[in-house]
Amino acid sequence: MQPVAVIGAGPYGLSAAAHLRARGIPVRVFGEPMVSWQAHMPAGMLLKSTPVASNIDAPQPGHTLVDYCDEAGLPRLVTDEDIIPVETFVGYGQWFQQKIVPDLERVRVVSVDGRPGGGFELKLDSGEQFTARAVVVATGLSGLSRLPSELAAAVPDGPSPAGPVSHSAQHHDLTRYADQDLLVVGAGQSALETAVLAAEAGARVRVVARGRRSVAFGAPPWDQPKLRPESPFGRAWSLYAFSYHAGGYRHLPAATRHYLTRRVLGPLGAWWLRERFERKVEAREVRRIVTTGTRDGRPVLSLETLGGRARELAADHVIAATGYRVDLAALSFLGHGLRARLATSRGTPKLGAGYVSSVPGLYFTGMLAGSSYGPVMRFVCGTEFASPRLAGHLAAAHRGA
Ligand SMILES: Cc1cc2nc3c(=O)[nH]c(=O)nc-3n(C[C@H](O)[C@H](O)[C@H](O)COP(=O)(O)OP(=O)(O)OC[C@H]3O[C@@H](n4cnc5c(N)ncnc54)[C@H](O)[C@@H]3O)c2cc1C
Repeated sequence: MQPVAVIGAGPYGLSAAAHLRARGIPVRVFGEPMVSWQAHMPAGMLLKSTPVASNIDAPQPGHTLVDYCDEAGLPRLVTDEDIIPVETFVGYGQWFQQKIVPDLERVRVVSVDGRPGGGFELKLDSGEQFTARAVVVATGLSGLSRLPSELAAAVPDGPSPAGPVSHSAQHHDLTRYADQDLLVVGAGQSALETAVLAAEAGARVRVVARGRRSVAFGAPPWDQPKLRPESPFGRAWSLYAFSYHAGGYRHLPAATRHYLTRRVLGPLGAWWLRERFERKVEAREVRRIVTTGTRDGRPVLSLETLGGRARELAADHVIAATGYRVDLAALSFLGHGLRARLATSRGTPKLGAGYVSSVPGLYFTGMLAGSSYGPVMRFVCGTEFASPRLAGHLAAAHRGA
């Protein structure tokens, strides 16, 4: 029987593979296990999500973060006050992979094309070519980092840690900026934590954020409002609905969905980061960055202050912690024929029930499914909603074929 190809070995790809296998569906899984966490996030990072919201979902018991801690002899991470080091989370993901997907293939998929009679033709960078009856795209953050034009202006050849401007996804070791003047652009957890870690490694760091009071931190668990329902992201009705009723999301009007996917759970530092930030990092809140140039090879930001005045800020380097944007055009492995058949909305795939796209047999999960299934798809805990539904849909389509 032709296998299902799962492209991606981060939390979503591994979880989808676990659910498909549990239904007896043959699966081939491709990618570097947990590479986004290991290579594209800073060393020493702590997860913003709580332990209960950081499980990679599996159909069989024994695969939670706590199970991993027990087996690895690590302290149990259980309460909302237990903070997960990224190194522990990478270890958890790799352990999950070895238990459930031991035959993971650490190769890249270079192309996926539809076959005339149904099914898909895949090419791997190993040179192998094979046919799959269905494809699950779980490529997560890969290739989706976003650099706004006012920062891109300084780096016509693209961002780079060795040049004037880089993207936060290009960093793992921030010690290279020790003793340097660093500007970090952004106000999300990634910006604030990158700034703190670089400052703790000896850089002089300023965070440049758009808008008054844009640098803010969440409430600690003991100060969360008690009369609102609990969700993996904190206590709030909206967060509860997005977490447990993600299935209704795709029925909202498109403009509302795109707005909510961007704005809900938007920029906010974790409660435990505030003190470290205030000790070491300076925040510059501005109306906007107008453009970025270079002077003697050093980046210079031209800004408009909150009061409307023009200002310049120079540094040795700028890190743009400006996030990620889903755009199918960035998934270069999707063949032109397939791309032309995909129904999209603002560059994102329009998905139906069970995460299937408009091309039968082609599924998208994780961040790529965010505009259809909501902001929870940007986080690991979304695997609990996504994976059983995706596997259930694929299994039913398989039975009906
Ligand atoms: C700085 C930062 C901090 C974060 N902190 C948290 C947090 O605390 N909690 C939380 O829930 N979420 C957090 N997130 C979001 C988190 O990254 C995502 O929820 C999660 O990684 C998504 O998992 P994924 O499996 O979809 O993709 P990824 O983890 O990005 O994995 C992508 C996989 O696709 C593979 N791949 C890509 N292209 C190909 C190809 N052509 N062929 C084969 N394989 C391919 C890669 O090798 C990799 O295995 C954070 C994100 C960032 C940037």
